[in-house]
Amino acid sequence: MSLSLSERCDCAMQSEIRMMSIECARHGGINLSQGVCDTPVPAVVREGASDAIEAGRNTYTHYAGIASLRAAIATKHRRLYGMEIDAHQEIIVSAGATGAMYSVFQALLNPGDEVIVFEPFYGYHVSTLHGCGARPVFVTLRQPDWSFESADLEGAVTARTKAIIVNTPANPSGKVFSREELGMVAAFARAHDLFVITDEIYEHFLYDGAEHLSPAMLDGMRERTVIVSGFSKTFSVTGWRVGYAICDRKWASSIGYFNDLFYVCAPAPLQAGVARGLKDLGESYYRGLSEEYGAKRDRFCEVLDEIGLKPSVPRGAYYVLADTSRLPGKTSREKAMHILLTAGVASVPGGAFYHDRGGDNFVRFCFAKEDAVLNEACRRLGKLA
Ligand code: PLP
Repeated sequence: MSLSLSERCDCAMQSEIRMMSIECARHGGINLSQGVCDTPVPAVVREGASDAIEAGRNTYTHYAGIASLRAAIATKHRRLYGMEIDAHQEIIVSAGATGAMYSVFQALLNPGDEVIVFEPFYGYHVSTLHGCGARPVFVTLRQPDWSFESADLEGAVTARTKAIIVNTPANPSGKVFSREELGMVAAFARAHDLFVITDEIYEHFLYDGAEHLSPAMLDGMRERTVIVSGFSKTFSVTGWRVGYAICDRKWASSIGYFNDLFYVCAPAPLQAGVARGLKDLGESYYRGLSEEYGAKRDRFCEVLDEIGLKPSVPRGAYYVLADTSRLPGKTSREKAMHILLTAGVASVPGGAFYHDRGGDNFVRFCFAKEDAVLNEACRRLGKLA
């Protein structure tokens, strides 16, 4: 028999995150590995969706999303970031930020193109690049601030480089890119004529007074920047699959073409739900998110400090990388398994965020959990002291 899988499957690997979730369930642990927030969905968002179902808005939508959602996204970006976006021609609503990213890569990248990725990275960025036949080229951020220099970018660029990916606030490091750093990325992208693809899904999870800034907000960067974001995190609706891309109209219809091809549209009533949320929830909701998650971060990092797993305290997003050098095990997977078997708490091995052995002494915890769950996880982690 000569039946075989596609060559594409050679680069498909079971994600460490999924593997740890399976192990966690097997051992009855608390799952702090996956970035699934189990905090409540705002009532207006739920009502917006159920009203839409009752009103019969259950059919396909325009491939780029319902008009009210695109208008609400444009209004949000104007209000918060002073950006003028044409809701009809510059926004594509997709199946989550993940769907938006895949559609963007399909529209902008050719097989063999190189794309610069900061590491530690979010695994889906790299796997999606592989899935499109593009090649990730890594720029490793330096601790303690996850910093980089222009020379690092210059060292990674070749004639095949087509884009650079930014993720701010970042998963897993919690880095919030400063104006100066984004300025460096912008100058680099202009000098080498690159796209900047920026994943901003954690834009509302900011601590210690950090401010969200998109590369698209810098002078002269709108045309070459594609913003990807979504509602999974902001409204705790990871299973709804609603996200979007914002870009210059030159790229939008091709991104929309692939969005239509792969997903047809994001779920119709759920688009209506998040549109209602965007319209009705004001500054205090977003400020509340940062306060609520900031308190979770403080409590969790304090415990990590107490048990000698030094945290890299995040300035944004809702993950923390902890230094596990003192734990037994050679690899980050062995260390994560030690934590699961000793304390009953699942984390993600740091190796999942690096292309080489760079993450061996880290694990990542997600602290987007109800307080009762997080408190119990903190109590259990005390067993590692
Ligand atoms: N981008 C980043 C950086 C993430 O961490 C995640 C989820 O963990 C996503 C995108 C997924 O977003 P969505 O649920 O909208 O596809």
